[in-house]
Amino acid sequence: MKIKEIYDLAIKEGMNADPRGEEELKRVLEKAKKEYDDLKETEKEFFDLEKLTNPYSDTRILIGDSDVEVKSILCGIDIEVGEVLLADRLKEKGKDIDLLLAHHPEGKSLTGLPGVMKMQADIWHREGVPINIGDVLIDKRMKEVQRSLMPVNHNRAVDAARILDIPFMNIHTPADNMVTSFLQKQFDELSPYTVKDVIDFLKKIPEYKEAAKMGAGPMILVGDGDKRAGRVVVDMTGGTEGPEGVLEKLADAGVGTIVGMHMGNKLRKKADEYHINVVIAGHIASDAVGLNLLLDKFEKKEINITPCSGLMRVSR
Ligand SMILES: [Zn+2]
Repeated sequence: MKIKEIYDLAIKEGMNADPRGEEELKRVLEKAKKEYDDLKETEKEFFDLEKLTNPYSDTRILIGDSDVEVKSILCGIDIEVGEVLLADRLKEKGKDIDLLLAHHPEGKSLTGLPGVMKMQADIWHREGVPINIGDVLIDKRMKEVQRSLMPVNHNRAVDAARILDIPFMNIHTPADNMVTSFLQKQFDELSPYTVKDVIDFLKKIPEYKEAAKMGAGPMILVGDGDKRAGRVVVDMTGGTEGPEGVLEKLADAGVGTIVGMHMGNKLRKKADEYHINVVIAGHIASDAVGLNLLLDKFEKKEINITPCSGLMRVSR
């Protein structure tokens, strides 16, 4: 597969699993087209043309010729300078590494991270929160995340890959969409009775089982194991953590238990205040589930995967 084909397949799979649905995704791409068309000629060079076909601003080919043929990938949750050097070391030892594949955004995907957060309003809307409220809440939070990314040296790992001439790509929200829909579907079928039932179900999934053995497995952050779970909502996509104000709205909309990757203190306190149970499935293990679902598709096309940086490879 060429790098471009891997990238296109990731976008396609991410869109298939996207909680917004086909219609809304179409609208997102049309909006980008209109934005581009409306730009003055002098402004057009600053527009990222990928936005016209890829609705995920946190997922990009970061460096390298997209026509390069790929047979072997070094894939990790985070690819930083250390992993770039690791790839170079492996190549020195005679191992083929045609592409570095990270989950978490680097370079322009990192500056693009706030761009995918807008979808959280659609996710809450599906749970019963009015879209007008969701749009306002997420807009404030997006700006906050954007400001927090300003001091970051975002192109450091990409520069290392460029100097060592190793193509580098990252796939963030498409993989997060996949773990979210994978888990949500199973919770919908299972309807766990108690919060403990939610934990027990997660611990049967190999990535979570291994994480649990390392002390980073599923845990109850808010609530008690013997309390009823109510409606279980998997909250694992949309860039990063949402705004604290949405917890009250989700409680009103009838959400009983949130299953997430992680949750900061401000949100945890709100969940506690509004009596929403919170189960933390585990950050890196959840990222691994999403990535593994995608890597299965690449492996079917004869691509060899070397997992690193927190990724435990599980085929399904
Ligand atoms: Zn993550």
